[in-house]
Amino acid sequence: MTLEIKNLNVSIGNIPILRDVSLSVPSGQMFGLIGHNGAGKTTLMRAIMGLLEVDGGDVSFDGNDLRKMADHARAKNGISYMPEDRRLIPSLTVEENILMPAWTNGITDAKERLEWVYDLLPEIAQFRQRRALQLSGGQQKLVSLGRALMPGRKLLLLDEPFEGVAPVLSRRLSEVIANLGRSGLCVLISESDDSHSSDLVTGSYRIERGTVHPADMQPA
Ligand code: ATP
Repeated sequence: MTLEIKNLNVSIGNIPILRDVSLSVPSGQMFGLIGHNGAGKTTLMRAIMGLLEVDGGDVSFDGNDLRKMADHARAKNGISYMPEDRRLIPSLTVEENILMPAWTNGITDAKERLEWVYDLLPEIAQFRQRRALQLSGGQQKLVSLGRALMPGRKLLLLDEPFEGVAPVLSRRLSEVIANLGRSGLCVLISESDDSHSSDLVTGSYRIERGTVHPADMQPA
């Protein structure tokens, strides 16, 4: 169950943003995607999730072409994304936000998944009936991770999970992500530097102005 990206090109409004991106995240491993603001991390994750049209190239997971996969099929295949900006629905409760992907994608074992999410993140179970707008930014990140985990049992894309999170919660997030890694998920974590992800990952890619190369190599 490898994530494979080959020669991916993405433009936004005729401006090339991702240029010939190739990378792979091997089965059950956690990899970092490190790059400054504006380097293209979010664009790459959104392209993998089929949220952006691509100009060309291949994106596959477990041999299946993600470019041709509908949203609900992605969710059913265990592929999920935690956006940088959390995107919770403020007026809904924590539990309703977490359940949202199950409702919209027809996930049948939602109850078991929810229990698993609460086992992994017991702190959010405590405020499951609170509205999202009542939570701190860090708490919202945990809820956003919980929501991504509802469908995300095989491949999880985490877009800057540590951004804007206070140190105590960052340590907790690291712990949770490390546990996820041990449970065999394939994970791609983006970060502007590798200060949090370096202890979690088995390898990293660096992204600079839309081009990607293994972190220990300089671009050609
Ligand atoms: P950040 O952490 O700041 O989000 P990033 O590495 O995730 O950085 P992207 O958000 O992928 O970077 O942006 C990559 C480039 O694409 C930037 O130059 C950005 O200005 C541009 N870009 C992204 N989305 C749009 C858009 N909707 N319209 C125009 N340009 C965009």
